[in-house]
Amino acid sequence: MATIKTIGILTSGGDAPGMNAAIRAVTRSAIYSGFKVKGIYRGYRGLISNEIVDFKPQNVSNIIQHGGTILKTARCKEFMTEEGRQHAYDVMKQHEIDALIVIGGDGSLSGARQFASEFDVPIVGLPATIDNDLYGTDHTIGYDTALNTIMWCVDRIRDTATSHERLFFIEVMGRTAGFLALSGALATGAEAAIIPEISIEVDQLAELIENGFRNSKNSSIVLVAESPITGGAMGLAERVRTEYPQYDTRVTILGHLQRGGSPTAQDRILATRMGAAAIDALIEGQRNVMIGDHNDQIVYVPFSKAIRKDKPIDRDLVETLRRLSI
Ligand code: ADP
Repeated sequence: MATIKTIGILTSGGDAPGMNAAIRAVTRSAIYSGFKVKGIYRGYRGLISNEIVDFKPQNVSNIIQHGGTILKTARCKEFMTEEGRQHAYDVMKQHEIDALIVIGGDGSLSGARQFASEFDVPIVGLPATIDNDLYGTDHTIGYDTALNTIMWCVDRIRDTATSHERLFFIEVMGRTAGFLALSGALATGAEAAIIPEISIEVDQLAELIENGFRNSKNSSIVLVAESPITGGAMGLAERVRTEYPQYDTRVTILGHLQRGGSPTAQDRILATRMGAAAIDALIEGQRNVMIGDHNDQIVYVPFSKAIRKDKPIDRDLVETLRRLSI
């Protein structure tokens, strides 16, 4: 393996709060250890279209507290093709970039894995997605901030739901995973979470809601994970409205506001630890691994494992939510 002198860094796919903290930690740790750093703008697209600049410690000053990503992010169809990836490799070589740090979610790490299987490029991934759906890490960068944003929003919806004695279906992000919906429900005292990992019939849900109102609750909040499996909040509310017209039902889709905002302390610290660990990993000769956080320890997770689709939901939390919704 050739010696690494220059490291390229990019953010790709869906943005997540804490990406900037990760960019800062990677850049400064790399420079501290004697590497040169190049910032690649707009993810894989910028790698192909040559949007690359030298990064100094000052390029990452005053960004730790900001959501989004100073490197911008993009989705890139061209990188899904062999020609696109060849082009990306040629541009990398032109800039004398010897290794890559890819900050992103499941798709971005799948791209990294594919690229690394075709070219002799050491790549280290950082898990950054609000969905928390990467295997081998307890938390992803951005998840805690999104969860806090959901909590903030649902608390406010609860005020109006209680005043009007309404049933609210609140849709949260999560792609194919229910982590945000389940943890969001626990954090807000919601009556239920509808998640793709666990199927529930409309009748069962209605019974739960009915019990609540019978036991003198005067509002009901159900968090719904966006997913074709759950049908989303609109679909579910429509079915409940048709079969149970006695409820005053409303829907709120939180949407992209879940992606923004200043990262929480937890996300900043996670991104910082992971960013520094990514450079340690390269120094140790690791390649094609994602940095994970398991039981508060940094772990290296091979890409093939990280992008598995079956990161399990904690069934104990599901049971706790059920017990507390009486
Ligand atoms: P996220 O990282 O948030 O999951 P996406 O799924 O949109 O985001 O993926 C980001 C980008 O990663 C895609 O636009 C594409 O350029 C690249 N990518 C994803 N999957 C692959 C793949 N199997 N092969 C090559 N590139 C991929």
